[in-house]
Amino acid sequence: QSQELSQVRIDYHAALQSLQEEGTRMVCTGKMHTDRICRFDYLCYSTEAEEFVFFHSNSSVMLPNLGSRRFQPALLDLSSVEDHNTQYFNFLELPAAALKFMPKPVFVPDVTLILNRFNPDNLMHIFHDDLLPIYYTMLLYPDLDQDARLVFMEGWNEGLHFDLYRLMSNKQPLLKEQLKNFGKLLCFTKSYVGLSKMTTWYQYGFVQPQGAKANILVSGMEIRQFTRFLMEKLNVSMEESSSGEEYIVVFSRTINRLILNEAELILGLAQEFQMKTVTVSLDDHSFADIVQIISRASMLVSMHGAQLVTSVFLPRGALVVELFPYAVNPDHYTPYKTLASLPGIDLQYVAWQNTNEENSMAFPDRPWDQGGIAHLEKAEQERIMKSKEVPQHLCCRNPEWLFRIYQDTKVDIPSLIEAIRQTVKTKLNLKKVKPAIVIHPGKVRDPKCQASVQGTNEARLTVSWQIPWNLKYLKVREVKYEVWIQEQGENTYMPYILPHQNYTFSENIKPFTTYLVWIRCFFNKTLLGPFADVLVCRT
Ligand code: UDP
Repeated sequence: QSQELSQVRIDYHAALQSLQEEGTRMVCTGKMHTDRICRFDYLCYSTEAEEFVFFHSNSSVMLPNLGSRRFQPALLDLSSVEDHNTQYFNFLELPAAALKFMPKPVFVPDVTLILNRFNPDNLMHIFHDDLLPIYYTMLLYPDLDQDARLVFMEGWNEGLHFDLYRLMSNKQPLLKEQLKNFGKLLCFTKSYVGLSKMTTWYQYGFVQPQGAKANILVSGMEIRQFTRFLMEKLNVSMEESSSGEEYIVVFSRTINRLILNEAELILGLAQEFQMKTVTVSLDDHSFADIVQIISRASMLVSMHGAQLVTSVFLPRGALVVELFPYAVNPDHYTPYKTLASLPGIDLQYVAWQNTNEENSMAFPDRPWDQGGIAHLEKAEQERIMKSKEVPQHLCCRNPEWLFRIYQDTKVDIPSLIEAIRQTVKTKLNLKKVKPAIVIHPGKVRDPKCQASVQGTNEARLTVSWQIPWNLKYLKVREVKYEVWIQEQGENTYMPYILPHQNYTFSENIKPFTTYLVWIRCFFNKTLLGPFADVLVCRT
C-alpha cells in the first residue's frame, strides 16, 4: 500500500514548503451543511487523533468562514444521507507553525474524493447512497477523473461488494483503517470532501416515515447513464441477446425473507407468460452475471429487499414485480417503486402483498435484527402477532417491522398473476420502448396585444405571439398555448388553452381597464414552457 502512494512522485520539499507557507485552502459550494461539497488544497488527517486538520497561515483560505457555526451541527454531510448525525464532517484547526513539532507529513498526490459510505453491506444502500452519488460528484468536478482516489471515512471494512466501488476509478479506494499504514499525518494535496445528493430518490425514515424524497432531481436518463458506465466496467455486453428469447428472472434470497414455493412460482410464471423463467441469487451468481441476466429480462420478480435495486439494469419496458410479506403494506415501503417510476426510466411496476397469514412463516425466536421478538414483553409480543399491518414507524429498529419483513412467504400464484395482469394486459413489449428525450418549449416570442372598446360595457383584447424559437427544429405531436388574463390589481386570473397563435378575447373584458397577459407554450399536454414577459394591455 505505502509503495502505491509513493509511485506518483511529487517534490516532497516543495509540497512541505507550500503547506508550511500557505497552509490549507478550502472553498465550498452550498449554503447549508446538507448541500455542501468542499475542495481543499492540503487538507491533512491525523491518523492518531482520527481528525482532519486545517492548517492556518497568512494565506490560508476558508470559504465559507462560518466561525463557530461550523459546529452547528457540522461543516457538511460526509455521506449522501441528509443530515445524519453520524455522518458529519469537520476538521480541527492548527497554526501551520505547529507543523515543526509534528510528525513529518506524508503527501497523497492523487486528487482525492473523501466521503462516508452509508451501509456498504447492503446493495440498495451501495447503489443509492454511494455509487450513484460518487459517479455524479466525480462528473461535477473534472479533476475527479479516472485517476482519482476514493477515501472512505465511515470506518467499515471493505463490505460485501467492494468490487463495485473499485470500478469507480483506476486507483484502489482507501479505507479509514488503511490510512494509518501511510503515517501519522497525511496531507491530501488536492481533495474534495462530501457527496452530491442530487441523484438520491429515497429517504429512509430517520425523521419521518420512509418514502420517496420530496423533491426528486434525477431522471431515468441519469440512472441509465450510470448503469451503462457500470456495465462497461463489468464487461457486460450491452447488445441484445443473440437468441432474442424473452425471459423472466426471479431474484431469490437464500438466507431470509424466502419465497417458500419458488419452484411453483417459476412454473406458474413460465406458464402464464409463456416465457423461460430463471432464478438468480447473490450467493449463486457473480454480480456481473446477475447484471448480464437482468439486462435482457422482460420481468424481474423478487421479495422486497436490497437486491431489487438491480432493476436499474433492466431494459426499458421491463416489469418489476415486488413481493411483500404478510402485514407489510407496500405503499409504506417504496424505494423500488419510486425507482421504477422515475421519469424516463421506462420500467413498469407491480407490488403484490401476501394477505393470507397462513401462507406466512414468522420467526419470533430469531435475534432481534432478523425479526425476532422474544426479547419483548409478552403483551407486546402478542399484540405484534395479532396485528394485521405494521403501523408506520421511523427507521431502523422497529421490532414489529423487522418481525414482519423477515417472514418467509408462500406466494399465492393466482393472486400474483392477477396483480400482474392488471398492469400487463397482453404482452410486455421491450423492443418498442425507445428512450424519449424530453424537450421543453422555449418562451413564445414577440407577444403583442391590441385593445378595442366596443361600448360602455364591452371591450376586446386581441393577443398574438410567435412560436418558441426551438419549435422549428422539433417534431412535436401537439403544440398548444396557455394564456392567463389578469386584471391589474386582482389576484385571480382567467386561464385559456388555445391551439393557435392569436385570439380575441371579448368575454369578461371591461373597457378602460388594464390587463396583464401571461402566455406560455406547452407540448403534448404536459410539457410546460416558461411564460413570456408579461404584456400590459389597456382597453
Ligand atoms: N441478502 C441476500 N440474501 C438474503 C438476505 C439478504 O443476498 O437471503 C442481501 C440483500 O440483498 C442485501 C443485504 O444482504 O444486499 C442485506 O440484507 P437485509 O435483509 O439486511 O436488507 P434489505 O434487503 O431488507 O434491504
